[in-house]
Amino acid sequence: MVIIMQSGASTQEISSIIKQIETAGMRAHLSQGEERTIIGMVGNDRPIDRSVFELMSGVDRVVPILRPYKLASRDFKKDDTVIQINPGKTAIRIGGASSALAMMAGPCAVETREQILESAHIVKAAGANILRGGAFKPRTSPYSFQGHGEDALKWLAEAREQTGLAIVTEVMSVEQVPLVSQYADILQVGARNMQNFALLNAVGMSTRPVLLKRGMMSTMEELLMAAEYILSNGNYNVMLCERGIRTFETYTRNTLDINAVPVLKTLSHLPVIVDPSHATGKWEYVTAVSKAAVAAGADGLIIEVHPNPALAMSDGAQSLTPENYVNLVAKIRRVAEAVDRTV
Ligand code: PEP
Ligand code: MN
Repeated sequence: MVIIMQSGASTQEISSIIKQIETAGMRAHLSQGEERTIIGMVGNDRPIDRSVFELMSGVDRVVPILRPYKLASRDFKKDDTVIQINPGKTAIRIGGASSALAMMAGPCAVETREQILESAHIVKAAGANILRGGAFKPRTSPYSFQGHGEDALKWLAEAREQTGLAIVTEVMSVEQVPLVSQYADILQVGARNMQNFALLNAVGMSTRPVLLKRGMMSTMEELLMAAEYILSNGNYNVMLCERGIRTFETYTRNTLDINAVPVLKTLSHLPVIVDPSHATGKWEYVTAVSKAAVAAGADGLIIEVHPNPALAMSDGAQSLTPENYVNLVAKIRRVAEAVDRTV
């Protein structure tokens, strides 16, 4: 249920509502819009007597949210969520029509200090504003490279210091959340962990923004329910990431669900990021698919770029060379302009 306050409702009236919600054993989530305050009421599925709230002072109306996700829904928050990150001198804003596209780029994995520093300078010069790179890697085989852990996190932080790029990196388990939060600006929850509910609760209690990747066999509703776990713990800075789903097609690694971009943006106020690298699995298609994503309304792209893809320890086949990334950004600028966005 959401309680829509009258415009000009006092802080006193708002706190009385919150108190009443808490007395009912529920949690209150505040959304302060430009005109009025909306209070989301979530917690359990027990029926609640609406009239109790309708009669309270300062309340305009009480509206049930029929969708299973509440805080992630546009019914709860009409305006786009804008996430602000401050990695250096200039703030980065993600989401909302007036923000520039979030350009996340970098290698699949942090391999060496030199490799990540070199990657950072390459993607920064090409126009990226956020550096990606896995310190903890979720690999299909236990014998594959698993990431350099905390060493890699330190190198990422050094790259941020040198370039001013924000850092996005994956956190794979509950225990890793404090460590990764110490170094990263954005916590990535990988596709394989989209329904790791303990991890979702843990990143929900963190103050770091979260990039939540869609599970390869998850529906959009399941993705939104996963986001709801994070939001319901009080972390409202969540980005949804479409990274391709598994279909009968085997020529590409996954199938980019381009529908997810307009659908998620209709159903939810959260920013939508597209990962064309994992969606295609082949670098040759990354630029075309990136253009489609931006044209469809994505708020950003996360793209794998490696100084030398042939030597990459993971996902070399889908990684762009520095030159290819430069060319991609030039093309994305033109598509962005066509849809009233900037890079
Ligand atoms: C990654 O970003 O390198 C990654 C493992 O992505 P996903 O979780 O989407 O497979
Ligand atoms: Mn990868």
